[in-house]
Amino acid sequence: MNLVLASGNAGKLIEMREILADLDVELIAQSALGISDAAETASTFVENALIKARHAARTSGLPALGDDSGICVDALDGAPGLLSARYAGEHGDAQANIAKLLDALRDVPAAQRTAHFHCSIVLLRKPDDPAPLIAEGRWPGTILRAPRGRKGFGYDPIFQPDDGGGLSAAELDATTKNRISHRGLALAKLRVLLSQQTF
Ligand code: IMP
Repeated sequence: MNLVLASGNAGKLIEMREILADLDVELIAQSALGISDAAETASTFVENALIKARHAARTSGLPALGDDSGICVDALDGAPGLLSARYAGEHGDAQANIAKLLDALRDVPAAQRTAHFHCSIVLLRKPDDPAPLIAEGRWPGTILRAPRGRKGFGYDPIFQPDDGGGLSAAELDATTKNRISHRGLALAKLRVLLSQQTF
């Protein structure tokens, strides 16, 4: 099955291809079909994921998978949350986003640096699918005082997951991150939903 991925994020495409590698699914980046990013105008992750999936499905005429994710920091009342990709202004400037987050938490002690990643995934089997498949994942951890590790993307170097054996998300090997992360958990749930479906 061809599935359009409604995202321009290369890091996500790589992770999703790895996680879904054993399924009969060919993930096609929407950019490869000339489809531009949809505006993320909603106030929840799941709505933004649906907006992205619907835009890609309608434009391509193919089944489409939209996802929206971000990091929610308790001491900042859930920020950057929906704005994670553009926290420091420019969309996708990971270095600037990390610097801004570390600065915002400069005076916050270790015990209060708790955070989690959230991921919502929506799959439209056809452009006018009235009952999309929806799967979500949450990955709890804490925000470090300085970046550690070179793998992954985005906020990975300053996020230490509770279940990562003391490593930052950017120090985990890809297989481990994909098994325990918010996106990995959401995709695991989506796989179950997919296995129960006929297209
Ligand atoms: P989206 O493309 O609107 O879903 O933006 C998600 C943003 O959240 C990314 O650009 C990253 O800044 C951050 N993010 C989401 N998932 C991860 C992850 O697995 N590691 C690090 N940062 C992530």
